[in-house]
Amino acid sequence: MNQKWHSTLIRHLVLLIGVCLLIGLVSGYYGLSLAVGLALYLGWTLKQLLRLHHWLRQHKPDEPPPDGYGLWGEVFDSIYHLQRRDQRARGRLQAVIDRVQESTAALKDAVVTLDSDGNLEWWNRAAETLLGLKTPQDSGQPVSNLVRHPRFKEYFEAGNYVEPLDIPSPVNDHLHIQFYITRYGNNEHLMLVRDVTRLHQLEQMRKDFIANVSHELRTPLTVICGYLETLLDNVDDVNPRWKRPLSQMQQQGERMQTLLNDLLLLAKLEATDYPSDNQPVAIDALLQSIKGDAKALSGQRNQTITLDVKSTAALKGSEPELRSAFSNLIFNAVKYTPDGGNIHIRWWADASGAHLSVQDSGVGIDNKHLPRLTERFYRVDSSRNASTGGTGLGLAIVKHVLLRHRGRLEISSALGQGSTFTCHFAASQVAKPALSTAND
Ligand code: ADP
Repeated sequence: MNQKWHSTLIRHLVLLIGVCLLIGLVSGYYGLSLAVGLALYLGWTLKQLLRLHHWLRQHKPDEPPPDGYGLWGEVFDSIYHLQRRDQRARGRLQAVIDRVQESTAALKDAVVTLDSDGNLEWWNRAAETLLGLKTPQDSGQPVSNLVRHPRFKEYFEAGNYVEPLDIPSPVNDHLHIQFYITRYGNNEHLMLVRDVTRLHQLEQMRKDFIANVSHELRTPLTVICGYLETLLDNVDDVNPRWKRPLSQMQQQGERMQTLLNDLLLLAKLEATDYPSDNQPVAIDALLQSIKGDAKALSGQRNQTITLDVKSTAALKGSEPELRSAFSNLIFNAVKYTPDGGNIHIRWWADASGAHLSVQDSGVGIDNKHLPRLTERFYRVDSSRNASTGGTGLGLAIVKHVLLRHRGRLEISSALGQGSTFTCHFAASQVAKPALSTAND
């Protein structure tokens, strides 16, 4: 109440008391006339209060307040203006919300917000076409109940959203979608979903092309290598001067065959997410056998190869794939360790899962190469690699096999001081509880 109304109210009260006293003077009943006057004022005030209450209860938008006299009229008008101002602010906010909803509805990408428990809060129209969400039935449902792909469930629960996830759309198998998840506020999630079908098709074309070319080249190369072998066997009868070029041709032919085999293996690994085989693979026996092959590869180079098996834990997965990955690491250690060097293989299990490390005292790798080492055809030193007969695909194969077995590769190395390649497998991939066994 401002000063003006303060003094008006006092003036009214003084006037009322004055009139009552005047009537009291005339009638001789001061007390009675004062009481009647004040009771009448109180009754009028209560009536105004009831009118205000009635208006507030029955109030319809834009209905003006009842007429009031004096301070009550001012109170009615102030409340009415406050309500109008509030309505205008709400209208402006609604317009902003409508515009945001219109623009997100026009987006081709799906936008979904989830609460901290992963339940759906809000989504735009594209989410209905890409993910099949239904408005409003699905509101409050856990997202993993609606996007049921096992890889999504695993990705969402792991909570590591650095890399996006590509899976087929739950609505249509021919659609490929990519998820980007960001956390915000109080552990709520903002999920962006893009249609990457075209990109996926191009990627598929690339994979098919490589697989087809490798496959087509295999037969002619086998024929050429076969004839080269026959020619080499009889070279002395034909012309001894052909011996060197023929044996070089045979060497290169064998390299090409290894390359084609590696390319075909990579194509096969890329074709599916998980190995079709999911039997427990006895890693201790597998490593013993690879160690034997590594010794044969090392030959007369006087390298010490030791195997330390600390666990009988088996791994769920495909034996040929795991053999290929582990032998790539162990054979690399043999190839890149000078004569007389040491190669130490360890297999152990703990609460976080199972682990294989291959440590060598070899040439080592400069730090700057480590992040790119698992890329196809990436080589640290191509002249050195030519002599080792490597294809540059070995570590790419290791990475893919590990991905398919819920594992990851860790590489630590320093130039001239040897390298350690460690494969870490998730506990869910371990088939048997770990038990200590004898070392070799
Ligand atoms: P490659 O068939 O050429 O050996 P890989 O993919 O297996 O291809 O390895 C990629 C590169 O990583 C190799 O060319 C080599 O330079 C380096 N490398 C791999 N393993 C080792 C190791 N144990 N010690 C040193 N360098 C290594």
